[in-house]
Amino acid sequence: MTTDFTATKRQFHLPEGLIYLDGNSLGPLPKTAAARVAQAITGEWGELLIRGWNKAGWMDQPSKVGDRVARLIGAEAGHVVMGDTLSIKVYQALASALQLAPKRRVILSDTGNFPSDLYMAQGLAQTLGADYRLKTVAPEEVLGAIDDTVAVVMITEVDYRSGRRHDMAALSARAHEVGALIIWDLAHSAGAFPLQVAKDGADFAVGCSYKYLNSGPGGPAFIYVAPRHANLVQPALSGWLGHDAPFAFDPDYRPAPGVERMRVGTPPVLQLAALEAALDIWDSVDLHDLRAACLSLGDRFIAGVEATCPTLRLVTPRAHDQRGSQISFAHPEGYAIMQALIAQGVIGDFRAPDILRFGITPLFIGAVEIDGAVAALSQIMTSGSWDRPEFKARAKVT
Ligand SMILES: *Cc1c(COP(=O)(O)O)cnc(C)c1O
Repeated sequence: MTTDFTATKRQFHLPEGLIYLDGNSLGPLPKTAAARVAQAITGEWGELLIRGWNKAGWMDQPSKVGDRVARLIGAEAGHVVMGDTLSIKVYQALASALQLAPKRRVILSDTGNFPSDLYMAQGLAQTLGADYRLKTVAPEEVLGAIDDTVAVVMITEVDYRSGRRHDMAALSARAHEVGALIIWDLAHSAGAFPLQVAKDGADFAVGCSYKYLNSGPGGPAFIYVAPRHANLVQPALSGWLGHDAPFAFDPDYRPAPGVERMRVGTPPVLQLAALEAALDIWDSVDLHDLRAACLSLGDRFIAGVEATCPTLRLVTPRAHDQRGSQISFAHPEGYAIMQALIAQGVIGDFRAPDILRFGITPLFIGAVEIDGAVAALSQIMTSGSWDRPEFKARAKVT
């Protein structure tokens, strides 16, 4: 069955006249989410009150929803669980991976990784002391830097600025060859293209649901632990809902079986309801179709921008196998240009120091939107209309 992208687009609320190229940062609202969340509020919370934990299945939601995410990332069923934010899940994965490589002290990552991942690693290394350290190298140098001093390779598959994509299968194979573990951060991969975390050797994988998966602001993250490790890892964040028997109220921690031990505290029931609505749309999507559409729309966008905006420099690799879903261009006045574009109803975003990012998300973006965005951008660049003080005032979120 081929995916019907006209049908998927109809399932999102998209404000009239707006072209939304920021689904890589915050996905749009699935039309059924409001009713699904309203049902969770009035029908479940309102009517059932505390009984909702059992009767509405709130307690099992993190693993049930985790199984639906597992399909999207190529994980075995029963090995993904939802909760917390991605930064927390990075910390948990890293702490557990370090525990599985007790003789080594180096966490290897790249300088293009998202700062929160690096900060979490720095914080954990400081807590552990004993010579633990984070080492970062340029993205192209990761493969060559994996040696037998490395405990854990912690890589975000797609660079949040450039859109460059790592070869995770190759990095995983190399990590295992030298006895290291690998953590895949799929923040910009899950819902962007097909993934095979199980087949391609991820030891741990983490990601968020509010970007491509469209769960809404503050939606919970996911964590995958490879089955071979799932019953071995001792969680660093040993919360009661990761306990084997939370309602035994045992004063001593004993981890739950498998990935359930990566749960920490009370799950975000309302956000999970919104994510369930979003996953109903994903059920109709073949990720190979999505990838093909994304690459072709990306090529169309690159060609259009390069033909009309010669001062914008493409920073995303042209080669299909080296790029994720977003397309990025650099310009020293990128912030003002993006603000001018947003004022015209084309929403992308800006990442310091000079990157304009455009998310290419075929569930709700097609050729018409790509052409509209190119036209607006070329009009702004040709007229110089971005060069106004109002477009240069920096907001808190860029
Ligand atoms: C978006 C993103 C995050 C955000 O983490 P939160 O804890 O959900 O705010 C972390 N890491 C990467 C790689 C990201 O792209």
